[in-house]
Amino acid sequence: MAEPKRLGDLLKEQGLLTDHKINVAIEQQKITNDLLGVTFIKLGFVSSAEVAKALSEQAGIPYLNLYEHPIADEALRKVPKDVAERVGFMPIDYKEGRLSIGIINPSNVLAVDTATQLTNMAPDVYVIDSDAFYDLLDRAYFFLQHPVLARLASAVDAIKKASTVSAAQISTLTELIITDAIRRNATDLHITPEKQAVHVFYRIDGVLQHGHCYPKTGQNGVISKIKVMAELDIAEQRLPQDGSFSFTFLNKTYEMRVSTIPTIYGENVVIRILSGSGPLVRLSSLGFAAEDTRLLDALFKKPYGIILITGPTGSGKTTSLYAALREINILEKNVLTVEDPVEYRLSLVKQTAVNAKSGYDFAMAGRNFMRQDPDVILLGEIRDTETAKIAVRASVTGHLVMSTLHTNDAISAIPRLIDLGVDRFLLSSSLLAVISQRLVRKICPHCKTAYRPTEDEQHRLKFAGIDDQITTAFKGAGCSNCNSKGYIGRTVIGEILVVDDEIKDLVSTGASIKSIKEAATGKGMRFLREDGMRNVAKGITTIDEILRVAG
Ligand SMILES: [Zn+2]
Repeated sequence: MAEPKRLGDLLKEQGLLTDHKINVAIEQQKITNDLLGVTFIKLGFVSSAEVAKALSEQAGIPYLNLYEHPIADEALRKVPKDVAERVGFMPIDYKEGRLSIGIINPSNVLAVDTATQLTNMAPDVYVIDSDAFYDLLDRAYFFLQHPVLARLASAVDAIKKASTVSAAQISTLTELIITDAIRRNATDLHITPEKQAVHVFYRIDGVLQHGHCYPKTGQNGVISKIKVMAELDIAEQRLPQDGSFSFTFLNKTYEMRVSTIPTIYGENVVIRILSGSGPLVRLSSLGFAAEDTRLLDALFKKPYGIILITGPTGSGKTTSLYAALREINILEKNVLTVEDPVEYRLSLVKQTAVNAKSGYDFAMAGRNFMRQDPDVILLGEIRDTETAKIAVRASVTGHLVMSTLHTNDAISAIPRLIDLGVDRFLLSSSLLAVISQRLVRKICPHCKTAYRPTEDEQHRLKFAGIDDQITTAFKGAGCSNCNSKGYIGRTVIGEILVVDDEIKDLVSTGASIKSIKEAATGKGMRFLREDGMRNVAKGITTIDEILRVAG
């Protein structure tokens, strides 16, 4: 038991744990008999990535984020799956006879020996986090053994040749289309009937990408199959419908939210894929500028008031809310959430999910939370008058309320809430801050190159209202590390409107958006595009990305 104790001290030194948390973990460990390190993670005090980074620093072995790194088939072929599983390492890359491997425990000498024996050369070693290891090992070998693209091509070919398409052929194709979405880490899957063929698109890192085509003879079959899974009316093809189903793949369950609309070529289907897990991050690693991170940290430690996060669907609002919850001392504050759905499970937080069938919605949750002795309330989204009013009432009675709202920028949240019927004066006295954010793709560090922005780019920036005179920008040329995309992972760009006394006055007296904006500018508020250009100048993202999300 000597080692986990050292881990506790290490994490404490890094400011990730307190004695209080360590003691609670030791108490829980007596009940569960888990290792202390595992208990820290299960209690949500630290993430597995944070443990891995701490261990990597201690051992002097570099950390590698496996979620942002492709796993090469050549590496997997060098190591039989049972060996990788038994010895506990992930083959990552295989170049010029040398294997790169990822290990959870830096003192796993057996892994290094095994990799050396398999290749006759000492491997490059990285520390990876345990969640990523268990998440990706089965998956990587599954796709090596069942190449989904080849199987899709033969399923499409079979349908093309069939005089009558069979139910089995439809099932296979449908399952492969969904499995490929999971393989690509897509957030959305689109099935789009066209005149000549049906097209499948995947949204990956915020960008729509063409996946496959299949014959019109398979169109109704696949769409009906999905509608049946989502418990929709298959006879109804002229009206939009929505529903959902669960899809299990390698012991992991994905929630699939289905929407259909009738287009001129048939029903268009979009499936939003909720994976139910992902890396838990801290406010400091979301991507906000250092001074904004300090500001957010202070805001989320306030005892009462409303903090809103705005942005379109897929802009990372939920991830930011979870990151904010992690900054709250969960051992001393009672946190209740109502979400649609619960995307990540957080230990010691009382999470609830809206349930349309039973009538449990944001408003009902908000009303009843008040009787649960709350300190912090997270309302997944404010989209109606009642929820908006409950948020205000909870905050003026001494609670911290966090929520999200659909507006394009931070300042627009104010007129939006007033439109929803919130009293100006109550709003001005309860609103602490509004954060607006977007996600942009990060340039791959392995193939990043500097260049002089083209005249066309300068024009487009100017057209988007960005006057920055930039002489150097960056982009990824594309390499094996980023699957030739030039990008790896995403980061946040954001703006924060802090409601101080001057802005409170403006809100309560019904001032225009323009005057609120002027006041905020005067205080040095940095707007989305400016924050985006900060990331361009630092070589984190490209001009294209800023124009795509905030142009
Ligand atoms: Zn690259």
